[in-house]
Amino acid sequence: MRNIVKYLIQNKKFVGSNLIKINIIFMIIFILNIIIGFDYMGHSFQDNYQKVRQSADLRIQLLNLEKALVDQETGQRGFLLSKDSQFLKPFDQGTEDYIRASEALLKNSENIEENPNIHQDIVRLIETGEKWKVEYGDPQVRKVMAGGTITEKELLRGKQNFDAFRDQEAELMKYVEDLRDYRREDMLNRLYYLFAIIGAIFIGIQFFMLYVLQSGLTRITRPIIELDDAVSSYQSGHIQAKLPQYTEQNEIGRLISKFEMMSDEMKKERRTIKETYRMINMVNQARNLEEVYRISLESVAALIPCDRVSIISQNDSRHFSIKAFIQNGLFTHKDIPLTREAIDIYDLLRSGFSMVHADWTTYRAEGPITDQLYENGIRSSMHIILRKETRVVGLLNLFATTVNHFSLQDKEQLELLSPMIVTAMDNAVETNRIQEMALHDALTGLWNRRYFEVVLEKLIKQYKQEDPSTTFSLILLDVDRFKVFNDTWGHSEGDLVLKHLAKLLEFQVRPSDIPVRYGGEEFAILLPHTPNRGGVEVAERIRKQLEIESPSRKYTVTASFGVAEWQEGLTAAELIEAADQALYQAKEAGRNQVIAYPKS
Ligand code: GH3
Ligand code: MG
Ligand code: MG
Repeated sequence: MRNIVKYLIQNKKFVGSNLIKINIIFMIIFILNIIIGFDYMGHSFQDNYQKVRQSADLRIQLLNLEKALVDQETGQRGFLLSKDSQFLKPFDQGTEDYIRASEALLKNSENIEENPNIHQDIVRLIETGEKWKVEYGDPQVRKVMAGGTITEKELLRGKQNFDAFRDQEAELMKYVEDLRDYRREDMLNRLYYLFAIIGAIFIGIQFFMLYVLQSGLTRITRPIIELDDAVSSYQSGHIQAKLPQYTEQNEIGRLISKFEMMSDEMKKERRTIKETYRMINMVNQARNLEEVYRISLESVAALIPCDRVSIISQNDSRHFSIKAFIQNGLFTHKDIPLTREAIDIYDLLRSGFSMVHADWTTYRAEGPITDQLYENGIRSSMHIILRKETRVVGLLNLFATTVNHFSLQDKEQLELLSPMIVTAMDNAVETNRIQEMALHDALTGLWNRRYFEVVLEKLIKQYKQEDPSTTFSLILLDVDRFKVFNDTWGHSEGDLVLKHLAKLLEFQVRPSDIPVRYGGEEFAILLPHTPNRGGVEVAERIRKQLEIESPSRKYTVTASFGVAEWQEGLTAAELIEAADQALYQAKEAGRNQVIAYPKS
């Protein structure tokens, strides 16, 4: 109760406050109804009572009038019969009473609504009485007093007049009695009627109050039931369940809005989990670093919407580059090395702690990158350290144009995610290394035969379709008498020679040429945009260089070269076969020489 009063006084809203207010209003209406009802009833009763009283008085006054005339007549008759003057006393008294009674009667009989003529009837009655007095009462008394006698006839006429009065009076009396009964009954009826009206108003208010109470309670219970349903749905995992629409600021409103906040948090959490799983899944499938960067940055941007995300990672033990970024929803993969001037970034990397810079207008890192971002409108940032075991290997940066954009919760979330990004980056590097290895020769580091075959097919296709005006050449070379060399100088010296030769090939050809270890002590070089003649020149240059330059002065190494030019219609196997033929001829012709096929 005290709480209710407190709430009402503080004008704070609580669930039942409206109902209590309405109840108070109803109480006031009730009290007013009772006061007005009783007051009206009092007035009405008073009125009716007066009327009943009036008709009762009329009856008594009529009786008094009759009694006064009877007294006069009795006194007169006594005097006439006995000549005894003591009978004149009631006669005179009756006369006086008659005057008083008639005055009262006349006054009372005015304004009788039911019958305005009654006044006239009473006037006539009084006149009849007075007429008896004037014509028979007084004259006969005076006559007897003077010693005269009254004849039987005179007496009879007096009596007839008196009876006329009595008849008239009886008739009036009957009417007055009827009037009294009628008025009494009417008063009762009016009372019943009033009671009925007041009762009906009571019942009406009661029903209306019940209706208001019922709808008020429904307004309270409906959101509770809906909320209960929603909670049940949430329990069974359907966090999309709709919450009741309720805008009132009371306990239920607050409860629902808190539940709404909780539900938003849950939805966010679920989104985070989903996004995290998606990222883990996708990042695991990434085939190269670029994809790792793209997936990681896109996932981070989906988790924590912001204006710019970038990833910085280590090139070698000292230097870092911005590897990729997303700005305006656009992913850019571009290696931007960080110079020594980028002290803001290096400070962050050195600190080794992930951090949130909530408001750049009050604090921001000092350095050119931060300055430029500030100029472009960035006002807050979050930096997540990417770490491999204890080593800092990179940095994930999120930027926003509003202050206080990032929360500590965001930071924690990304910190949990960051090892996955590092692992994915490692995996991509490793995959790349393995892929590279599969296409390179382990001893010399040159491309291997598998790669050679792929490139050769590609070249043929390219020259066939896109560039039929020019051609390319293939040089096959084979070290001369290498079996003997191995036997003489040992296998490891032989390996050394092969490595030396590989370096020589790399050095002697253009960057666009593709030197390959074809197998054993055989090598191949693909020379794009080069006809036979050019191929021969290159081969000759290599041959000469090899002859004069070997890993040791103890021996000289030579090789034989076969050159073939690709011509329209040749397959890869046919081209190789042609070069091989030329090589065979070079061997046949005494080794350490270059032969082209067809001879140019
Ligand atoms: P030819 O002038 O006719 O080419 O004579 P050759 O001895 O070079 O002939 P052949 O092709 O029969 O011998 C190739 C030899 O090269 C056999 C093998 O011992 C040697 N060889 C192949 N691969 C390697 C390698 O990776 N390292 C070393 N050290 N020797 C190799
Ligand atoms: Mg050989
Ligand atoms: Mg050989």
